[in-house]
Amino acid sequence: MSSRYLRKELGTLKPYIVDRAKYRIRLDANESFLRLEDYLINEMKDQISSALFNRYPDADSEAVCSLYAKYAGVSPENIMAGNGSDELIQVMVNTFIEKGEKVVVLSPDFSMYSFYTEIGGGIPVEIESDEEFDIDIDYLIKEVAKISPKMVILSNPNNPTGAVIKREDLIKLIESCNCLVVIDEAYFEFFRETLVDKISSYDNLIILRTCSKAAGMAAIRLGFLITNHQLLSELKSVKPPFNVNSISQSFGEVILKNENVIKLNSDKIVEQREILIQELRKFNDLKLFKTKANFVLIKFEKAEALNKRLLEEDIKVRSFGGGKLTNCMRITVGSEIENAGLLEVIKDFFQKGGKENE
Ligand code: PMP
Repeated sequence: MSSRYLRKELGTLKPYIVDRAKYRIRLDANESFLRLEDYLINEMKDQISSALFNRYPDADSEAVCSLYAKYAGVSPENIMAGNGSDELIQVMVNTFIEKGEKVVVLSPDFSMYSFYTEIGGGIPVEIESDEEFDIDIDYLIKEVAKISPKMVILSNPNNPTGAVIKREDLIKLIESCNCLVVIDEAYFEFFRETLVDKISSYDNLIILRTCSKAAGMAAIRLGFLITNHQLLSELKSVKPPFNVNSISQSFGEVILKNENVIKLNSDKIVEQREILIQELRKFNDLKLFKTKANFVLIKFEKAEALNKRLLEEDIKVRSFGGGKLTNCMRITVGSEIENAGLLEVIKDFFQKGGKENE
């Protein structure tokens, strides 16, 4: 039962549940397994020593935006920072989506797109990818034309599948549709194809990035939105003024001044991803989907039993229920030791015929 104060259209909305239990091996949230090195931690400590805690943060996060602009290869006038890219999704919806307007999302894709659309009074409309989680671009373009949305938003690489859409296909979509196109490049560093070079070529393109994945800074909640001047100025007038706190800004500056770390760390993660894929392929009953992210999606008839077994061993991966994701598990790439721990349990599960927990 809702209170009489709740907005009527939010009656069925459920809170986003985050499992904060401690696990021996945690591979469920697409975080980086790499901890920051001591020299970076020391630079962050220096930032804390000199922080002006009595003062509000820089409302425009100017210094960290300039550094991110350099990192992304765009001008600082094309960037704004958010309290995670999550916040930026909400700012986009608040800025552009009128009550009842449609937002096209893919299915499956990152659930927050629909979540914020609904909160904002918009209507998410799902377009399904195929059995391999690929999307035929001509089909997508045709559906978008039929639906006539205000915005299309998709992650590339896709979370939770790891699938990607080719650059030329995305360009075709941007050029053919008469609405905003948001490409969420949260996992860009593991794929290294981007459309940031195109933001000034179109009036309808917005790119999202985050420091939560390859940069290994999920704790500080720092994301970026990259777009043309016009859309940026409109978004900036909706964004809460002091949305990124001073500590996150200054820690973000530290990591971006040492941006080679992001490249080195994403190399290490991709290396572990490829080893993990090779090892998982040895289990014939597991179907692996192609991935360009820091996780691997697998499908297995006995996913529920396997998940139960992993939990008994204090290993957490992300499992899904419903639709095409039934019996799918998304495994974030862990360290060599974490991956070995995971593989050992999977191996044992198959050796025992995968039956003991059914
Ligand atoms: N976009 C995608 C595709 C994601 O998977 C995630 C995090 N899981 C986010 C955005 C949110 O990232 P942030 O931590 O910057 O809010």
